[in-house]
Amino acid sequence: MSRLLNGREIAKKMKAELHAELQALDAVPQLRILSFDTPSSQVYWQAQQSAAQSLGIGIVPSTPGAAHASHAQSWDKITQSRVEEILQEWNQDVMVHGIFVHQPMPKQIDAQRISALIDPKKDIEGIHPQNCARRFFSKARIGSCTALAIMRLIEETGVALEGKEAVVVGHSEIVGRPVGMLLLDKLATTTICHIGTNKAGLLEAHVRRADILVAALGQPQFIKGEWIKTDSIVIDVGINVVGGRVVGDIEFEAAKERAAYITPVPGGVGPVTVMMVMKNTIEAFKLQQG
Ligand code: NDP
Repeated sequence: MSRLLNGREIAKKMKAELHAELQALDAVPQLRILSFDTPSSQVYWQAQQSAAQSLGIGIVPSTPGAAHASHAQSWDKITQSRVEEILQEWNQDVMVHGIFVHQPMPKQIDAQRISALIDPKKDIEGIHPQNCARRFFSKARIGSCTALAIMRLIEETGVALEGKEAVVVGHSEIVGRPVGMLLLDKLATTTICHIGTNKAGLLEAHVRRADILVAALGQPQFIKGEWIKTDSIVIDVGINVVGGRVVGDIEFEAAKERAAYITPVPGGVGPVTVMMVMKNTIEAFKLQQG
């Protein structure tokens, strides 16, 4: 029977830490978020807004001054030039310290071009090529909020990662790849699995030997409880809605019988990620203050 890595409790702890950091600053960091009118973007926006407000971080949606319900950009209608216009405006505004664009972006938007457009010092999701390169060389100043949240959850266990077998399932640019790099930095022997691993029928074998498992594939309960290594650390990043209920990528009930530590869904990675957005906004503020 495992210990629950309670993301809500950890987020509360982080909030106290961030509150103290904010007290020491001579101005209020300002965060700007480009969100979309999709259910998942809306849920994320609400959580980010409420965390920022509770900490006293300035937050304004992508249409300044708009009524709450119309803050998000239309998923179907937003154009590349409009997104670029919003980001240029925020880049140039010295009062804006952190910029966050919700992912995924609509298909009519060139996501790579958008990542490269955000001022690297304001890029609190670490998606600008300069920030990706810094991460590659273990010199990141600001990195993927979800990847950093995963590392914070693992840190809470107190288990040293050096020499451990870490297996990440999913190789996306905002979760799988960056967390793989951070695990490498801790000298965990790191394997990143993806759709090719699954097609080759090798996913189960990799998961079975994971001392640290990070599941970020976005497939409801795809990873079976019986695959989980006894006494492992299990981080479930997945957010999937099934029959009106939110479930992760791992069969939680069975997995918790085997793991030493496990994150619930909801209430695991999500709340820590939201707090990491706030932490990165403060880091960006400090970076800009020199
Ligand atoms: P993406 O869809 O961008 O990436 C999913 C990854 O999983 C891809 O690399 C994909 O491989 C791989 N994959 C898909 N199916 C399989 C499979 N059957 N076997 C092996 N690999 C597979 O998603 P994200 O990385 O953005 O997010 C992943 C999940 O985490 C989602 O559920 C998302 O909602 C959630 N999430 C949660 C956050 C939180 O704070 N809690 C924050 C961000 C995301 P390929 O590309 O080769 O197909």
